[in-house]
Amino acid sequence: MAKHVTLQSADTIKEIVSAVSSASDELSRLSLEIFNNPETRFEEFKACALLSNWLESRGWKVRRGVYGLKTAFEAKFSVLDGGRTVCFNAEYDALPGLGHACGHNLIAISSLASAISLEHVLREHHLPGTIVVMGTPGEESGGGKWIMAKNGAWKEFDACVMTHGMRDFSTPLCLTKASWKVTARFKGLAAHAATAPWKGLNACDAIVHAYAAISMLRQHLEKGSSIQGCILEAGKASNIIPDYAEGLFSIRAPTMQKLEELKSRFEPIFGAAGAATGCSVELDWTALYEDVVSNDTLAEQYRNYMIQHLGMEPEQLPTLEESRVLYDQPGCSDFGSCTYICPGIQAMFSIEATDFPHSIGFREASCGKFAHKEALRAGQANALISLDILTNDEFAEGVKEEFIEAMKNAGRWKE
Ligand SMILES: [Zn+2]
Ligand SMILES: [Zn+2]
Repeated sequence: MAKHVTLQSADTIKEIVSAVSSASDELSRLSLEIFNNPETRFEEFKACALLSNWLESRGWKVRRGVYGLKTAFEAKFSVLDGGRTVCFNAEYDALPGLGHACGHNLIAISSLASAISLEHVLREHHLPGTIVVMGTPGEESGGGKWIMAKNGAWKEFDACVMTHGMRDFSTPLCLTKASWKVTARFKGLAAHAATAPWKGLNACDAIVHAYAAISMLRQHLEKGSSIQGCILEAGKASNIIPDYAEGLFSIRAPTMQKLEELKSRFEPIFGAAGAATGCSVELDWTALYEDVVSNDTLAEQYRNYMIQHLGMEPEQLPTLEESRVLYDQPGCSDFGSCTYICPGIQAMFSIEATDFPHSIGFREASCGKFAHKEALRAGQANALISLDILTNDEFAEGVKEEFIEAMKNAGRWKE
């Protein structure tokens, strides 16, 4: 890597930094408004209106309820026609019962910081290119970006970047696993369990059979893959043959290719359990989280700006190689779906929380001054690498080449 090390001029970097600094109070107001009005997946009406109205009032073209989700929006800005397109994702959903314990209010304003500082540069220098802010709801358990991707989002963009807060470390990389959830519903036939059991088809037996077979499969999973699950319903009384049973399962693997392989061994279990018991089965696959295919050229450049111009010490921001070892696959993010459509990164910034995301400690830090400052700094770095995409042909080409290569390796490249 490190082929494309040309950075923006010191003057341009200063412009980006000061555009973000002068919007800091306003961005803090937006962040706290989202934080103090937590809305869970697909119910983020206030946050969607807040952010999209704010961009619209600055002259951005806004469409709401896009790509299959009521609380999604797409805002676009350009000064001149033509040129390349860069996108910043803004998340704003909270966790049930915990509020903004994943800090998505910070992701929203980090992306706004990137967007409006780039807006400033395009206006000042009369540059071509389009900036997009994509409002992406339902990251928590909803797989919102997967739904938006299926409905055509992020096509034709040259890059899409975003950020995420982290407990006490920063990294230019976010490597996550692929995961997929399935609800299995077995239907049998009720009968008196003592008087006429031969007339029944036992749905409880079917799901127990499936659960046992899954437990056997677990021994043969590759490193990094896993299956979790639970039985939600399996009958109501001991003297009735249960005619309905339901279970919820998640499969996880390091990449989409590995996840598809796992799915091909996992899925037939349910048919077999149905056949063994005479029950019918219905599988409902929802909320696919594709793994994040991080673009090293973008991530390397993010680190260059952070260390050379935005005041980060090298030891505060590990190299890509170090990050791969230290922070390998912490969880899942629906941002993965974007990275199978266009090049992208989701850099992580420390918010100095006492605990990991989805905890009270993380929530408390997500509305603090330190987190705000770091969200804006990450936004500045993302603005600069995105400006590189818009103005530096060699850099944009390098990013694209790497993306094409990665998609070919993943079996996902379409000419
Ligand atoms: Zn989360
Ligand atoms: Zn999150």
